[in-house]
Amino acid sequence: MLKPTRSHDTHPHPPKHTGETCCAGHAVPVNAVLDAAEIHCHQRGLRLTPQRRAVLDALAKARGPLGAYDLIEALRSDGARGPAPIAIYRALDFLKENGFIHRLESLNAFIACPHHHTHGEKVVFLICESCRHVEEATGKPLDEALAKLAHAHGFTPARQVVELAGTCRHCHPSAAKA
Ligand SMILES: [Zn+2]
Ligand SMILES: [Zn+2]
Repeated sequence: MLKPTRSHDTHPHPPKHTGETCCAGHAVPVNAVLDAAEIHCHQRGLRLTPQRRAVLDALAKARGPLGAYDLIEALRSDGARGPAPIAIYRALDFLKENGFIHRLESLNAFIACPHHHTHGEKVVFLICESCRHVEEATGKPLDEALAKLAHAHGFTPARQVVELAGTCRHCHPSAAKA
């Protein structure tokens, strides 16, 4: 069972060689995520309040999914208490409803989404159990296959979350040899 850790001290991908940037392709482009959220909110007359922005910023900077209590820790300034859980949950709801973040059901944790999913696009989350990186994958064949499967069972899906837990390409033993 994959458990979100509370620690942000250990780095999942220490650079193998000096000069090599770690987590190539791993990090979410923080500014792009925040800018996109600002624009989206502006266009729709929504407010990206400092709290909402701070939560999104923390998720975009995180190396892996964060739960609500990880976020309280992350947003706590020295010596001060973190924001109240209810405030975090409200911010998460807002960010999720507007497509800026995803909730990972199996981890009860959240990730920032750097994509602008078209309406109804299905996402598969590939969750690495070694480094906790989460990659998003989309694909029409999968959408069709799932729609067909549901239809065959006379089932009307309201919500779909597909999560695969395993080993990412960076953590796979074959990656170390290369
Ligand atoms: Zn996404
Ligand atoms: Zn990994």
